[in-house]
Amino acid sequence: EQDPAPPRVVRKSAKLAHVCYDIRGPVLDRARKMEEDGQKILKLNIGNLAVFGFDPPEEIVQDMIRNLPDAGGYTDSKGLFAPRKSIMHYTQQKKISGVTIEDIYIGNGASELIVMAMNALLNNGDEVLIPAPDYPLYTAAVSLSGGSPVHYLCDEQSDWMPDIADMRRKITSNTKAIVVINPNNPTGALYPREVLEQIVELARQHQLIVFADEIYDKTLYDGNEHVSLASLADDVLFVTFNGLSKNYRSCGYRAGWMVVSGAKKGAADYIEGLNMLASMRLCSNTPGQLAIQTALGGYQSIQDLVAPTGRLTRQRDLACQLLGDIPGVSCVKPKASLYLFPRLDPKIYPIQNDQQFILELLEAERVLLVQGTGFNWPHHDHFRVVFLPHEESLREAITRIARFLEQYRKR
Ligand code: PLP
Repeated sequence: EQDPAPPRVVRKSAKLAHVCYDIRGPVLDRARKMEEDGQKILKLNIGNLAVFGFDPPEEIVQDMIRNLPDAGGYTDSKGLFAPRKSIMHYTQQKKISGVTIEDIYIGNGASELIVMAMNALLNNGDEVLIPAPDYPLYTAAVSLSGGSPVHYLCDEQSDWMPDIADMRRKITSNTKAIVVINPNNPTGALYPREVLEQIVELARQHQLIVFADEIYDKTLYDGNEHVSLASLADDVLFVTFNGLSKNYRSCGYRAGWMVVSGAKKGAADYIEGLNMLASMRLCSNTPGQLAIQTALGGYQSIQDLVAPTGRLTRQRDLACQLLGDIPGVSCVKPKASLYLFPRLDPKIYPIQNDQQFILELLEAERVLLVQGTGFNWPHHDHFRVVFLPHEESLREAITRIARFLEQYRKR
């Protein structure tokens, strides 16, 4: 009898060699195993509002239920007319000029469109400037598309503002685009108009596309206001991402959009590429599209939660204060979004490998965070906290983090 042939080894493609998405990486796998073993874990790792009792607005839910019987078909690949029209009105409110229905693409969340926008643009070796720390989908999407992510620094000393000089230094003849995440995940920063104007000027000088991620543009604390990058010029090409996931507590509906604006004339070929990729995936889910017009036409965004006494504001304040009370931990107070990115003083916490550090915290205290390097931060001295859990859970989680750090200091 012959030995059976060894199974054929199936390997992932070389395109994935530099792709990394640590928010759902090895630490989360370990947490899942612990949960399977019956351990209860406090999760401060993912910006998923629904699991923390932030339900989608009732009006949107009811409207979706009502529309469901008629939502069983494909739509135009860019999306249905009515929701795109409501997005067009939204761009007008944000003072982005010259946007037509044809410039608007609806996707299964902004995520799908971010990958599409990079795939349609990049050839091997093309560079894209991406913030450090970043929302890591950008680095992953650029790598997957064959491009090279080049990280510009955001400066913790100045409330995590992008370092424009660093951005400028890193522009080469291969640079195609700049990614700006404003409001920011993971730092909670909100950029003022002057900073945005400097970025636009740089893009103008070097003919770069600006990818503006504005998915947290209504998640603003302390009465802050958001300025859309694309409202600042019409001679630069902008691709703006937004959606219902955060501002309307509806991540599960997978309803996001992308708006092309500004210097569209020179971009006909790129736009043809975007249209081709949008067609290849036929369309985004129809029920999610139908939620958009109800959301944008109503008054049920996140506003109440970010008011001075709103639940998110209170949780932000509490998390910031409790973390700041831990020796050697400092934290810039977020002006927007759902995240904190605290610093661990390397003199007190000489961490060599922050993934290992976060894993040890998980094992010791059953608290789940994401390490700073998961956001392409170059040093092992930060972590991200999602301040979505109720005050009681936040208090408990941060007490456990403090206890772990106390032990760490005694090592
Ligand atoms: N952009 C940023 C900055 C995010 O933080 C997220 C999700 O956390 C996304 C995009 C993805 O959003 P969506 O649910 O629309 O795919």
